[in-house]
Amino acid sequence: MARGIFNAESGTLKKRGHTGKKRAKKRPTRADKEKNRKAVRSTSNEGGSAVEDDSAIKGVKGFNWPFSTDDIWQIYSLLKQHYGPQTRWWPGEGTFEVVIGAVLTQNTAWANVDKALKNLRKAHAVTPQALASIDEKNLEELIRPAGFYRQKASRLKAVSNLFLGGASSPSRDALLAIKGIGKETADSILLYGYNKPFFVVDAYTKRLVCRISGACSLTYDEIQAVFESGLREGLKKNLQSSSSSLPFSSASVGLAEIFKELHALIVEHAKAICLKRAPKCESCPLKAVCKKEGINATHSTTTY
Ligand code: SF4
Repeated sequence: MARGIFNAESGTLKKRGHTGKKRAKKRPTRADKEKNRKAVRSTSNEGGSAVEDDSAIKGVKGFNWPFSTDDIWQIYSLLKQHYGPQTRWWPGEGTFEVVIGAVLTQNTAWANVDKALKNLRKAHAVTPQALASIDEKNLEELIRPAGFYRQKASRLKAVSNLFLGGASSPSRDALLAIKGIGKETADSILLYGYNKPFFVVDAYTKRLVCRISGACSLTYDEIQAVFESGLREGLKKNLQSSSSSLPFSSASVGLAEIFKELHALIVEHAKAICLKRAPKCESCPLKAVCKKEGINATHSTTTY
């Protein structure tokens, strides 16, 4: 597994050695990364003004990422050209069922979530009020098909209480403060439940980023910030162009839709072509831009 430090300016990977010499360049600390992230976030998700500040990408340049914002838009365009537009991908989008689904889908296939959701619907337990008041043991039984039902029942109770506390649209921090709710779950809730522009980074996204760029040790926050900036910049350019074919007139509306669409495209791509084992690189729409990191010459086995 190629691990190392990416030079964002040159796009090259330096392998970490064991020479004992001091590194010339200090790696960004956790505090630096958080500062960068806040710089990006402050121009992307607050107040609905998604595309106002060109300098947002400067925050991203601090990360070890070898691609430009144009590359991200190109990946989105190539995948969309190949698989076609993806709409209404998450069942029940925009309802509280998305919140429930995002919790239930942790570590299980959607088919199991579907069974649990059917049970909850039958029991009229798909609102925050109903979930908060239902007996926890009953709830565990209803969601048993989704696995880890004890932990998930307690998470659902906690999330429901958050909504009952007056949060019509919860903050990311409040969601992350709930035990068992990680970044992927919180961002799925915000994006699919509330149309908030938070790009969801799942295992498929990490795998694709690693293979395409060779940057295999990026964190959730780093990948998310780069995708959000790339899509924001690309959307802005496209909306300014007279030949834009995007179905949005406003970037603050379109950004969340683009985040959802690219996430759906990545999942589709990971299942159809960029498979975990033996990816079908020859028929891949991204083959011209992909480093194929971790994939051997015959593509028969892969590291990532
Ligand atoms: S070229 Fe191969 S490794 Fe790269 S994205 Fe396509 S299928 Fe995946």
